[in-house]
Amino acid sequence: MKALDELTFDNRFARLGDAFSTHVLPEPLDEPRLVVASKAAMALLDLDPAVAETPVFAELFGGHKLWAEAEPRAMVYSGHQFGGYTPQLGDGRGMLLGEVYNQAGEHWDLHLKGAGMTPYSRMGDGRAVLRSSIREFLASEALHALGIPSSRALCVIGSSTPVWREKQERGAMVLRLAQSHIRFGHFEYFYYTKKPEQHAELAEHVLNLHYPECREQPEPYLAMFREIVERNAEMIAKWQAYGFCHGVMNTDNMSILGITFDFGPFAFLDDFDAHFICNHSDHEGRYSFSNQVPIGQWNLSALAQALTPFISVDALKEALGLYLPFYQAHYLDLMRRRLGLITAEDGDQKLVEGLLKLMQNSGVDYTLFFRRLGDESPELAVKRLRDDFVDLAGFDAWAELYKARVARDGDDSQEQRRERMHAVNPLYILRNYLAQNAIAAAEAGDYSEVRRLHEVLSKPFEEQAGMEQYAQRPPDWGKHLEISCSS
Ligand code: AMP
Ligand code: MG
Repeated sequence: MKALDELTFDNRFARLGDAFSTHVLPEPLDEPRLVVASKAAMALLDLDPAVAETPVFAELFGGHKLWAEAEPRAMVYSGHQFGGYTPQLGDGRGMLLGEVYNQAGEHWDLHLKGAGMTPYSRMGDGRAVLRSSIREFLASEALHALGIPSSRALCVIGSSTPVWREKQERGAMVLRLAQSHIRFGHFEYFYYTKKPEQHAELAEHVLNLHYPECREQPEPYLAMFREIVERNAEMIAKWQAYGFCHGVMNTDNMSILGITFDFGPFAFLDDFDAHFICNHSDHEGRYSFSNQVPIGQWNLSALAQALTPFISVDALKEALGLYLPFYQAHYLDLMRRRLGLITAEDGDQKLVEGLLKLMQNSGVDYTLFFRRLGDESPELAVKRLRDDFVDLAGFDAWAELYKARVARDGDDSQEQRRERMHAVNPLYILRNYLAQNAIAAAEAGDYSEVRRLHEVLSKPFEEQAGMEQYAQRPPDWGKHLEISCSS
């Protein structure tokens, strides 16, 4: 266990130099205070969890203090936003404080979001408000606990600093951890600004640091791109299987590591709805829940375009062609497990689609359905769940297919079935209204609800005594909350 001043830095991205990032300094928040910290994320830095409560912790992550070895840099990138190319973006309100390596030899970027203006702030104020910082913190850690690859969050620091959005709010900072903050948009920036040397340097950096095993392949860059395709397909398969809607899948928000990244107006589905749009500025539904799958491929082709100096177009096309098969394999595997199935049959895709159609028509809760399906034997479970469906005949027909399918899987005890299913079907997810309750309390100065919700979501598959209220469908007010983009 380390104290805060014992972190070891090795700032590899900063060493790439001024073509890649600009030296900046955090702008301190007034009266910084700890809102919430993640013990699991602290463990990634070998930090003693007790240090979160010390004043110096809030000072460091509230922009007042810096380690001597930190080299804060704002990174430059660009990207396709809602399908159109924006030639220059970059860390407009966040900064890479440095890279820390832990006892296991892993490097972790410390990235402070809401840390003030940078050369990339454009019209923005460089700040983040408390509500969006809490949402990013809760989502990062909750996704990780569900087994969905994501950037992590160490803490949220609140303050008395006024920040103007639609109304006056308070500034906050979230400390984000990832093994890299390099996005698809980094490659696009150097490609479209025609800087071949730096572009090649970036590709080399990513290959050496993040895909070293691809070095062994006859075409290392192609192997790396294939791996990026597969990781993205797997991540999006998990989003779809668990009902996570990202909301702003612009290429500047897509990580080169295939982790969920840059949280905005995201949401988990309550009722299953394939057409759900969580971002209220997304009028066309470009990033609707079901569009996430083709958009994943669209984004990968934008990256492929930026990799044409290193890989032949034919090879890139072939690798892009792997996306859908990878996606389908991962998705189907996870949905089979969610249904408690052990073996694979050709008709399983249809079984899943049939169920989702029925859930869509009846507005069935996506999370609780699967959890309850595992509570009891297939016969008893479908009998109990039947009441949630409007199309009773449709559900009965599906239930017959399902029971027959389970029977073909062979005998196992209900004990085993429950255990197997509960291990993949969460009881607790980050429902929008739960986040909203926690935010409202935090804005009034009470951080206990954010902390409790974070704790509950860190063990989403385990039933926790006294926490029934976190495993409920939303009340009416909590069903269609408008999440503002101005975060
Ligand atoms: P996002 O929608 O959060 O992915 O941000 C898109 C771009 O806008 C990125 O370059 C951000 O750094 C920048 N940005 C977002 N909010 C702010 C802000 N309040 N101040 C400065 N830049 C911002
Ligand atoms: Mg972004």
